[in-house]
Amino acid sequence: MNRSIHSKKQQRERAEAITVRLTSAYPHARCSLDFESPFQLLIATILSAQCTDKRVNSVTPDLFHRWPTPKAMADASQAQIEAVIHSTGFFRAKAKNIRGCCQKLTAQYGGEVPRSMPELVSLPGVGRKTANVVLGSGFGQAVGVVVDTHVGRIARRLRLTRHVNPVQVEHDLAAVFPQQHWIALSHLIIEHGRTVCQARTPHCEACVLADLCPRVGVKTATGATTGRNTIQKTRKS
Ligand code: SF4
Repeated sequence: MNRSIHSKKQQRERAEAITVRLTSAYPHARCSLDFESPFQLLIATILSAQCTDKRVNSVTPDLFHRWPTPKAMADASQAQIEAVIHSTGFFRAKAKNIRGCCQKLTAQYGGEVPRSMPELVSLPGVGRKTANVVLGSGFGQAVGVVVDTHVGRIARRLRLTRHVNPVQVEHDLAAVFPQQHWIALSHLIIEHGRTVCQARTPHCEACVLADLCPRVGVKTATGATTGRNTIQKTRKS
């Protein structure tokens, strides 16, 4: 492929082709956290930091059975919540954030999860990624693009961005993918990252995007790395 991808028009056409191919490859891609309400999705997403969705799904049934509402969870003790979520890692910080989040939901939002980005990111333990998950998969609002480790890595390999900072990656993706695709896009890329474009060993030979991808930062058979110097690391914001 031509590895110089400069014009916005070219980038949008390539983004469209990427969307079509990933949609065809992963027609059932969806949020892999189990939830029955935006509240449950919010708590599950807080728990998913530095943890697999499978592990989170193993603790949330007990968590939501014991404390089914923000009020009930806000009234639980730190030690009680820690005991249930222990296996998800960083359990002290997560329990503190969950209690703080539920206390604020109860005190300021009538026990409901707010539906705007500024309100969501004002909650303890909730950053832009978690807010985008809740808005997209919980409320069906395409306010932004969820950028997790898979999305960031694959966006850089595909040269859809040169950035490491998730907010800047999101900005670059939002500039070339139509807004109506933002929610599905993250699910598709995450599925691709789990199955084909894995962190250590991307299976480029089996990839539906192979002819569209400059493979930035991917080691070749000779051990050389493609395009590493084009990635810009900036401070997180
Ligand atoms: S060609 Fe390789 S690096 Fe590019 S998206 Fe596919 S698996 Fe990832």
